[in-house]
Amino acid sequence: MRPSRFPRVGAVPTLALLALFLLPALSGTTGEARAQAAPAPAVQLDPEIEALLAQVEPERLQAIVDTLAAFGSRNTMSDTEHPEWGIGAARDWILETFEGYSPRLQVEFDTYQVEPAGRIRIPTDLRNVKAILPGRTDRRVYVTGHYDSVVYGDPPEGAEVPDAPVDGPFDEYAPGANDDASGVAIVMELARILANSGKEFDATLVFMPIAGEEQGLVGAGLHAERISEEGVEVTAVFNNDIIGNSIGGNGILDSRTVRIFSEGPEDSMSRHLARYIHRIGSLYVPGHEIRLIAREDRFLRGGDHTPFNRAGFTAVRMTESRENYARQHTVLDTPDGIDAEYLARNARVNLAGVASLGLAPDTPGVTAQMLGRGDGYDAQLRWQPSEGAVGYRVFWRTAWGPDWQHELWVGDVTEFVLRDMSIDDFVFGVAAVGPDGHESLVAPFVRPPR
Ligand SMILES: [Zn+2]
Repeated sequence: MRPSRFPRVGAVPTLALLALFLLPALSGTTGEARAQAAPAPAVQLDPEIEALLAQVEPERLQAIVDTLAAFGSRNTMSDTEHPEWGIGAARDWILETFEGYSPRLQVEFDTYQVEPAGRIRIPTDLRNVKAILPGRTDRRVYVTGHYDSVVYGDPPEGAEVPDAPVDGPFDEYAPGANDDASGVAIVMELARILANSGKEFDATLVFMPIAGEEQGLVGAGLHAERISEEGVEVTAVFNNDIIGNSIGGNGILDSRTVRIFSEGPEDSMSRHLARYIHRIGSLYVPGHEIRLIAREDRFLRGGDHTPFNRAGFTAVRMTESRENYARQHTVLDTPDGIDAEYLARNARVNLAGVASLGLAPDTPGVTAQMLGRGDGYDAQLRWQPSEGAVGYRVFWRTAWGPDWQHELWVGDVTEFVLRDMSIDDFVFGVAAVGPDGHESLVAPFVRPPR
């Protein structure tokens, strides 16, 4: 018998069965790997999160989109004084609406004085709106969408174009309902529900409608730079942009799928966030297919997740499956193009992911050096413990596979050996699990760079 560093526990019949059917890679080994594992179910539905999902209201989402579109223009350089038209009125309304949701939300503008450069043509008082729900720790989970809008070119013939009550060069009608009042509606609805959930989250949740997206991701870039300088720890950024339309410009209707774009390489944390949203979202919103796209974004298009990625943060873009390009950045991007039920399903995918991740302990720390060969032919995994974790789940897949193929609850240990599993042939990862079963992102053991 090989020596084991772990306390031996009695073999558990259910687990042995699991090993027999699900874990053929373990059969023919000493059996120590499965003897170590305490019985624990796979990740399970939390009825309290299910109850929160039921609070997502399509009518509220639609009303937020309607209100934002009614500000006429939300161009980042548009009017800031008029009470009903322009980005100033829009951001004041978002701020006040956040304040009305719950006294638990710490609401403020995240302000920058931006000098003309690139597509910012005039000195601009750029403001993201920030609503923070403090957690037990300072590490943050963001939910974002951009509230600014833009319009290019002349309106198509016959299009309805309301007159602007102000006549600045950037005040022309730009309803931006789907791009991206839809994303902001998700951000605001999650803020309302989670701030009133009575739950204390481990992570600090940040709900942030962003400005300056249409001028080159300016607001997100400035914020990412600011928090990077401040040393803020970010677990994840869920960015929602163009997420409420279900009929493509080619006439194809698809209200049952949503896409998640994430930057590579294959084991980047952004890609692990995408896998996480797929895992948790599929569990809580089973009728909705979450399509993982192994790309940073769509061809020749950008989004606010990218400046976060560039600053070294974990961030993904969630977006509808079938776009209508004729509406984007035109006067045709009006609220009647929103499918509120579809938008609500996408909001629920976000909510499940954010609540689950927010309640979970932090991602365990791993380095390539923490993956070893054990006695020579084994996979020996070590990790840094996460505060508040009651145990850990180990994952693996073949080194050719896009997503985890196997998972094993290993209990409250910080080291685990999978006998006769070649570290060259598989990718391994580990997630921390909290007392209520909520699971962190999976930290992958990545091959060190040469
Ligand atoms: Zn957009």
